[in-house]
Amino acid sequence: MSQTDFSSLPLSADLLKNLESLGYESMTPIQAQALPHVLSGKDLIGQAKTGSGKTAAFGLGLLSRLDGDLYQVQSLVLCPTRELADQVAKQIRKLARTIPNIKVLTLCGGVPMGPQIGSLESGAHIVVGTPGRIEDHLRRGRLKLKGVKTLVLDEADRMLEMGFQDTLEKIVEQIPNNRQTLLFSATYPKEIQSVANRIMDRPELIKVESTHDDLSIQQHFYQIETKEERFDAVRLLLLEHRPISTLIFCNTKREAQELSDRLKQTGFSVAALHGDLDQRDRDQTLIKFSNKSVAVLVATDVASRGLDIDSVDAVINYHIAQENEIHTHRIGRTGRAGAEGRAFSLYNSKEHYKVAQLGLYLDRDIVSERLPAANLLKTTPNQAAMATLKIDGGKKHKLRPGDILGALTGEKGIAGADVGKIDLADNWAYVAVSRTEVKAALKKLSEGKLKGRSFRVRKL
Ligand code: ADP
Ligand code: MG
Repeated sequence: MSQTDFSSLPLSADLLKNLESLGYESMTPIQAQALPHVLSGKDLIGQAKTGSGKTAAFGLGLLSRLDGDLYQVQSLVLCPTRELADQVAKQIRKLARTIPNIKVLTLCGGVPMGPQIGSLESGAHIVVGTPGRIEDHLRRGRLKLKGVKTLVLDEADRMLEMGFQDTLEKIVEQIPNNRQTLLFSATYPKEIQSVANRIMDRPELIKVESTHDDLSIQQHFYQIETKEERFDAVRLLLLEHRPISTLIFCNTKREAQELSDRLKQTGFSVAALHGDLDQRDRDQTLIKFSNKSVAVLVATDVASRGLDIDSVDAVINYHIAQENEIHTHRIGRTGRAGAEGRAFSLYNSKEHYKVAQLGLYLDRDIVSERLPAANLLKTTPNQAAMATLKIDGGKKHKLRPGDILGALTGEKGIAGADVGKIDLADNWAYVAVSRTEVKAALKKLSEGKLKGRSFRVRKL
């Protein structure tokens, strides 16, 4: 038995079996370092990059302390955005699927209060949510935290950056002091240390260094001056390298929206992701990007952080990041799991000092490379490989991915290879199909039946 075997941990046989069935063969580095402390009940601060498996590092901890027969909130997980909260809740449900009757409730802003109040009344063991909405429920006396044994702050640095500090502290006041507090963060600035000092009890500090050395990600830097040059540089890089999926980072929401709009005007398959968009648009954008119906996603750090987007082929820093750690984080979105990744960073002479800092941090000389020749701007951008169809029916209608796949590929249907990712929500399903097969797929789904019923289907 090795140090990274889950079976080296004091976990129940059910949990271990479930991990095996989820395909978790061994612990990731943050899990191997954190879980022994987490399971022994200690407070812990864990610092590791996105995608390193932090959710299971705290999820297994809180599940192992849970009493399923006790109908009160025993764990509270706070996340900066609704997308992250949804993702965390989903993963916890997966981890908990062999423990009978565990209720995981998400409480986030941007969605109606009514159903949340109903769910709170019927009781939950684990609440995952965003600070604002949690505090709202607390203030109105709808949420009781007296039974909380484990408090988790996920992506704590982002929550502080988003101005949630006071809200967090108000929430923490409502939780008994004998709780376990687990804090996860990609970076560890002073503000986190001071919050930790106030709300944690002699925390263990664990840091997993980024495994993203320059070997798996080729980094390229370009000095440009004007805004027009910056925009053209993005187009040139996309037209030259033709990545299937690209994530572009902007420093502000406005810039992200503007860049996305302009890329769209010049023929690119692109969408923006930032906090000014409403939740539904953000959800749909993420689904379309991850199922390859959108080739380029232009995002702010806040909107994109922590999201479980599969590896992208290229990352473009429209402006070089303010901090070295954020830079490392951004480019870590590409080159995952052994795939080759490319990162392109743009800067002007005013931003040159950041490049110098980054060079010291990465311990390498950074030189500006030449951009591809301008005549490339006349070529046509790649279209996304897939398109998304939305079906107005989901889990509540007992639909499963297999039903949709079956309906598409059955009698005179399209080929299985032309069906991509299927995302199923309570009332909707999104299915990606090859762009060339959209018409046929639409026809098949709207004329045929799913689970004996017709559903409205349209192309997004
Ligand atoms: P983080 O919160 O650090 O960004 P996540 O917890 O979201 O990372 O995990 C990223 C992905 O890795 C998820 O899809 C998760 O299911 C998967 N994962 C986590 N731990 C393991 C493991 N030990 N073995 C295999 N896959 C894992
Ligand atoms: Mg996470």
